Amino acid sequence: MRASQFHIGTLKEAPSDAEIPSHRLMTRAGMIRKLAGGIYSYMPLGLRVIRKVEAIIREEMNRAGALELLMPMVQPAELWMESGRWEQYGPELLRLKDRHQRDFVLQPTSEEVITDIARNEIHSWRQLPKNFYHIQTKFRDERRPRFGVMRGREFTMKDAYSFDRDEAGAQKSYDAMYAAYMRIFARMGLEFRAVAADTGSIGGTRSHEFQVIADTGEDLIVYNPATQYAANMELAEAPGLIAERAAPAETLRKVATPGAARCEDVAALLGVPASKLVKTLAVAVEPEQAGAAPAVCLLLLRGDHELNEIKAGKLPGFERGFRFASDQEVAEHLGCQPGFIGPVGLARTVRVIADRTVANMSDFVCGANQADHHYAGANWARDLPEPDLVADLRNVVDGDPAPDGSGRLAIQRGIEVGHVFFLGTKYSAALKATYLDETGKPALMQMGCYGIGVTRLLGAAIEQNHDARGIVWPRALAPFEVVICPVGWGKSEAVREAASKLYEDLLAQGVDAILDDRDERPGVMFADWELIGVPVRVTIGDRGLKEGQIELQGRRDAAAEKIDVAEALPRTL
Ligand code: ATP
Ligand code: MG
Ligand code: MG
Ligand code: MG
Repeated sequence: MRASQFHIGTLKEAPSDAEIPSHRLMTRAGMIRKLAGGIYSYMPLGLRVIRKVEAIIREEMNRAGALELLMPMVQPAELWMESGRWEQYGPELLRLKDRHQRDFVLQPTSEEVITDIARNEIHSWRQLPKNFYHIQTKFRDERRPRFGVMRGREFTMKDAYSFDRDEAGAQKSYDAMYAAYMRIFARMGLEFRAVAADTGSIGGTRSHEFQVIADTGEDLIVYNPATQYAANMELAEAPGLIAERAAPAETLRKVATPGAARCEDVAALLGVPASKLVKTLAVAVEPEQAGAAPAVCLLLLRGDHELNEIKAGKLPGFERGFRFASDQEVAEHLGCQPGFIGPVGLARTVRVIADRTVANMSDFVCGANQADHHYAGANWARDLPEPDLVADLRNVVDGDPAPDGSGRLAIQRGIEVGHVFFLGTKYSAALKATYLDETGKPALMQMGCYGIGVTRLLGAAIEQNHDARGIVWPRALAPFEVVICPVGWGKSEAVREAASKLYEDLLAQGVDAILDDRDERPGVMFADWELIGVPVRVTIGDRGLKEGQIELQGRRDAAAEKIDVAEALPRTL
């Protein structure tokens, strides 16, 4: 690329809403331009980095045996109703109507559509396992879009979905993706950590996030340097490690009928032994709205944080003024002794969306239980089996001794750039995605899903790699790997010749080089390329050429180095 033919849009000032370095630097370097809150245009410079991120992801996904396809951005509501997420997803799901008043969504993720594809395409055990992925625009109407591409509303994600015959197969697929993710982020030159994680609104039973380590990260990670155990501290606030189950209609009816349910029914509803339902239940009631019966939310509670969020109307899905029922009401509602109801504490949105009329009651219950999660912890965080640590996460501080005495715990901040989920049959059961097994009987497919935030990765890489002058790209992601800065381009034939020769040689070697032929002063050129973050700069001027020398400077180096002209190519490859 020649700079005179490229679009360089560097700016002196950062936008006033840019709170963190990557947002400021991406805008100042001319990589992104804001169109609306959380919605950005990727300028030619930014798109080059996105394409590099995508290329690495594609190579590793293909290497791991995943198959690329492309699913639509706009998806019919019916599929989301079938999975239950039309009701469960909350305001992050952007819903729209077509000219016939039919409901659609802009996809925030694609479990429904891929499961629909699988149930139509996969009939026999012979066709399994399969892993499909796409790299596609997502839309999530985030409550607080901020930090530029880091928390956008429109963003690009790579999402993959595996289908297997049984749990053991699904575990293998999960492991293959986990390994592919380790390779992907290592190739990008990032410092990262895989951590045990909460499954959020995607669901499933076990999951790991891939966190790029950076002080500006929104997530807190606790890890044990001795054992490499690591977990997202969100887990402490999410005792509901989310086992979603289809509850029998009979049980739902009982629980929604005041006085009808016993502890055992509630436990059955949540899919946990009754003995584990200790002092953790409360019920939130949504006020009646015109034409709609009040919705009832069953919550498992612990601590205060999320409760306060609900009260302040800040928790997604609870903005519409849920109130908490009193212990007495809850007890009545559940048909149990008030003593069974513990103090209202931290709530994970474990919901029974139960219309009191029962008629519209959802068949789905997101059940979760603190105790279940501890014990199950040993399984889902299979390679990180420290359930005690998980239980105590909330109170961990930097330097605490590890529970097993293996060392001291440390806390870091991280940016979630990838997330792998073991889904089990959550979606295949809801959408009835079955195949015929070896005996000819229909069986549910076992699923996993695996996301990478393509555009968020740009921000994360910059948070980890920048200095006062600008971005410092890891070479694998840099928009250009080498920039050639001729001093006196307009005046000196010798400079033009040497610079053009090196440029052509680099291109011939497959190096992504840019030749700054704008005839700018060195100060202007250097400031631009330091801000943009090109890892290697070669400066060519008349004075040096007379001695057969040019200047080489790595973006992280304190000073330039004079080298022989002949060394320029081998040293910049
Ligand atoms: P977060 O906790 O940051 O909201 P998430 O857990 O909701 O993320 P997932 O559903 O796990 O996100 O999606 C997979 C990946 O997509 C995430 O690991 C992240 O890298 C990326 N991602 C999610 N939300 C956004 C967003 N608003 N903007 C950019 N990337 C995002
Ligand atoms: Mg999110
Ligand atoms: Mg998260
Ligand atoms: Mg996630």
